[in-house]
Amino acid sequence: MNIILLGAPGAGKGTQASKIADKYKLLHISTGDIFRANIKGGTEIGKLAKSYIDAGKLVPDEVTCKIVEDRLTWDDAGNGYMLDGFPRNIYQAEQLDKFAKVDLCLNIDVDEKLLMDRICGRRVCACGESYHVSTLNGATTCAKCGGELYQRADDNPETVKSRLDTYNTQTAPLIDYYKKQGKLATVTSGEGSPDEVFAQIIKILG
Ligand code: AMP
Repeated sequence: MNIILLGAPGAGKGTQASKIADKYKLLHISTGDIFRANIKGGTEIGKLAKSYIDAGKLVPDEVTCKIVEDRLTWDDAGNGYMLDGFPRNIYQAEQLDKFAKVDLCLNIDVDEKLLMDRICGRRVCACGESYHVSTLNGATTCAKCGGELYQRADDNPETVKSRLDTYNTQTAPLIDYYKKQGKLATVTSGEGSPDEVFAQIIKILG
């Protein structure tokens, strides 16, 4: 099964993606993670992506679609995957339809008022886990792997505002795109705890 995870920044896509990947043995592909790894590695793609990411804008479609199309040809994608952060606009969705088969789009719905606080309070670990400062009780390391927690460079109020604008103008129209294809499932408990959200996703996935 090939799944798309849709939702605004801070909706909990990454958190749910690792839970779904563990339970259903699906490959988790996050375009944001791919860009961050390239930035860390100092690659040409990383250099290009950084300026867009820092501004809260989308990395150009041509680069992003190519990365995903290539990644889906790897052997490990043959048993089903979950795309987290791709597609992010109608053009990317149309391209995806040309090189892959999408079975389901899970849209995690969260009230926009909560998103700024969720993202600005987010602390992440290199292993993929993420936390909110309000639940860390001062801890600075990851409960799962012991790694050092840090704040993403683009998790600051100014960039988040731009990311939310980008989501509303470019990404939100995908909800209708997948509804028309009969592939949309909406996760209405997006404001709940990660376990509550995951419980609803399990129901949807059967
Ligand atoms: P994320 O980790 O999904 O929040 O993505 C972080 C940033 O990476 C975004 O704000 C964009 O700048 C960039 N990015 C991630 N996925 C895409 C995509 N599908 N298309 C364009 N830019 C993307």
